[in-house]
Amino acid sequence: MTMPENSFTRIRYEVPRERVARITLARPETRNAQDYQMLHELDTAFQRATLDDDIRVIILAGDGPHFSSGHDLRNTATGADFPPRNMTGGYAQPGQAGAMANEEEFYLGMCWRWRNIPKPTIAQVQGKVIAGGLMLVWPCDLIIAAEDATFSDPTVAFDLNGHEYHTHLWELGARKAKEMLFRGHALTAREGERLGMVNHVVERDRIEDFTLEIAGEIAQRPPFGLKLAKLSVNNALEAQGQHNALNSAFALHQAGHANARAVHDGFPVDPNGIDAIRRLSQI
Ligand code: ZN
Repeated sequence: MTMPENSFTRIRYEVPRERVARITLARPETRNAQDYQMLHELDTAFQRATLDDDIRVIILAGDGPHFSSGHDLRNTATGADFPPRNMTGGYAQPGQAGAMANEEEFYLGMCWRWRNIPKPTIAQVQGKVIAGGLMLVWPCDLIIAAEDATFSDPTVAFDLNGHEYHTHLWELGARKAKEMLFRGHALTAREGERLGMVNHVVERDRIEDFTLEIAGEIAQRPPFGLKLAKLSVNNALEAQGQHNALNSAFALHQAGHANARAVHDGFPVDPNGIDAIRRLSQI
């Protein structure tokens, strides 16, 4: 079988134990800020793990003190620079048309692809997970968090409705989802566990071993059964309208961007709210 290329510059792909693949964000100097190169590499790595019949479970981890500071605000690439994965096109169009096409390709399109990988996926997170960082964590099936992990989506500061993979409701419940968006504050790992967003909270120095242990246990189980179990839960979420709600929120998100570009030149309306992202990704 032909495998996708393995010349990664932003991530690492490893098989740390039998039947378990681990994909690691490897830009700790930017706190794993995601540019389009990183997202494209992630998609290639997820494809590789999905197509490899010897792999049954996929871990997504991040190097350094923080899992991800979100989207790299200095990204200058467009969808035209990479082989398309979602057949979107129109990346070089002016105005909101091109901006929406790029977000369809790299944000909503890729997150939805990863959410539907027919193998269990586990996010292993530590430190800060901000906005676009949540877009890598939430499509995973399980979330293992270090005690110091925090989760926030401060993008209302940009006059937006939240990041582009708008599953806040299903992750937190309606009231907590609204509060997270309205206040832009960070939820702790323990709060996430109490709300059902996080599966387990473990000490920072144990998280790698703990996650490998859980992954190894699941990898002993029959892969077709795992696929069917995942599909059954995911299909129920779709029966609740999750995919339609995601698309609807994405359309509102584009309205937010268009308004921000017209009125604020795309900059944050509330500079305090977004300052944390800038500071973190430029350390
Ligand atoms: Zn956006």
